[in-house]
Amino acid sequence: MISEVETAMKIGIIGTGYVGLTTGACFASLGNDVLCVDNNEKKIAMLKKGHMPIYEPGLEELVKTNIKENRLAFTTSISDAVKKCEVVFICVNTPPKENGDADLSAVEVVSQAIAKHMTSYRLIVEKSTVPVETGSRVKQTIKVNARKNVNFDVASNPEFLKEGSAIHDFLNPDRVVIGVESKKAEKILRDLYKPLSAPIVVTDIQSAEIIKHASNSFLASKISFINLIARICDRVGADINKVAEGIGLDHRIGKDFLRPGAGFGGFCFPKDLAAFIRIAEKLGVEMKMLKAVAEANEDQKNYFLKMIEDNLWNLKNKTVGVLGLSFKPDTDDIRFAPAIDIILKLEREGVKVRAFDPQAINNARAVLNGTVYAKDSYDAVKGADALVILTEWNEFRQLDFKRIKKLMKRPLVIDGRNIYSPEKMRELGFQYISIGRPTVQ
Ligand code: NAD
Repeated sequence: MISEVETAMKIGIIGTGYVGLTTGACFASLGNDVLCVDNNEKKIAMLKKGHMPIYEPGLEELVKTNIKENRLAFTTSISDAVKKCEVVFICVNTPPKENGDADLSAVEVVSQAIAKHMTSYRLIVEKSTVPVETGSRVKQTIKVNARKNVNFDVASNPEFLKEGSAIHDFLNPDRVVIGVESKKAEKILRDLYKPLSAPIVVTDIQSAEIIKHASNSFLASKISFINLIARICDRVGADINKVAEGIGLDHRIGKDFLRPGAGFGGFCFPKDLAAFIRIAEKLGVEMKMLKAVAEANEDQKNYFLKMIEDNLWNLKNKTVGVLGLSFKPDTDDIRFAPAIDIILKLEREGVKVRAFDPQAINNARAVLNGTVYAKDSYDAVKGADALVILTEWNEFRQLDFKRIKKLMKRPLVIDGRNIYSPEKMRELGFQYISIGRPTVQ
């Protein structure tokens, strides 16, 4: 059950992206007074007018309502947020460097700025995903840059929301993790999260940082594991859906994250896996298992590409209709999306790609130049030698395949997300290839 906070807090959010904007809007909806900061002026100008810079279901309504209620505001000034708010969340991006390390330069810049503007006690909370021991660096940076006699605490409060269901996940978390060094910081964060009635795990800062990286690495491992099992199924004609059901009903394993596909992507799993491997290496621990998880994911994209090549024979000058560009359904986020990698590789081989996605086309335009963007799913398959499914948006599950068959040059569907029934596709007259399920000709 979600209620409102007993005493509203003034909360500053630095970094108004997928995580920061959701966090800000949700804390405001619980009755707090929230000021969101971003150094992207265009983004802040849009938000002030109630326009969304990202697509996330339900976010626009939540933001608009809370702006109207005067509980949510936007600014480009960190100084304003630090002066006004006792609790300041760092939600900036922590992208991967070439070598896999997390690039923490935005976290450092923001920590310096927070320090400079603090005039009385502040609780600075890292919500961005960061390698273990970043909290100590943030603390040191603030100490060096802050005025003398200004007290502060640093805490870690990793975020576990999923894009596409971010608001629901934020307001209904399986657990809230709080890494703290003082009773005062613990009390503030406990009070803030009290309305969610979720289990709260209180730890030291390092443990909280490890919990986030370990959780994402474990989930990524489950996906790579089931993808490898699916490849065995492909070899022998077994059915991965049944195998996953048989594995997942064991409570020690659980059924979530046992769906095979064309590889995982997004702004969390690939980069967090890489960063965890790197930080462990620096600490003298070689994460052989996680290296294999990352490698299996790269292999999976190539495995899927080979499926396309095997079925089209020569790729040059073939036309492929692609459905899905975002890394998962219900988001416009294409960061590290397998779809982008796969399309780039197909285009390099001379394939003409006609792609459609309900939300991600604008973002894709920045990275895919040779692609033709279709106005809908039917436009994408016009004259296509194959239809390739790369993201499992719900609207792709209910297509008129009789119409699709007439529009295509060849009735071949290669499904990287296993969203159709092989039997139904055969009845409709398609050659249907999916991952880890018997091929129906
Ligand atoms: P994002 O790129 O959508 O948002 C980050 C925002 O920070 C951007 O709007 C950027 O302009 C802003 N920013 C960068 N430097 C700044 C500065 N110096 N001052 C003010 N603003 C600045 O990223 P995101 O997806 O929201 O992820 C943020 C963090 O949360 C990352 O560490 C990510 O790993 C973690 N995380 C993401 C998700 C997710 O699903 N996206 C889930 C859990 C955790």
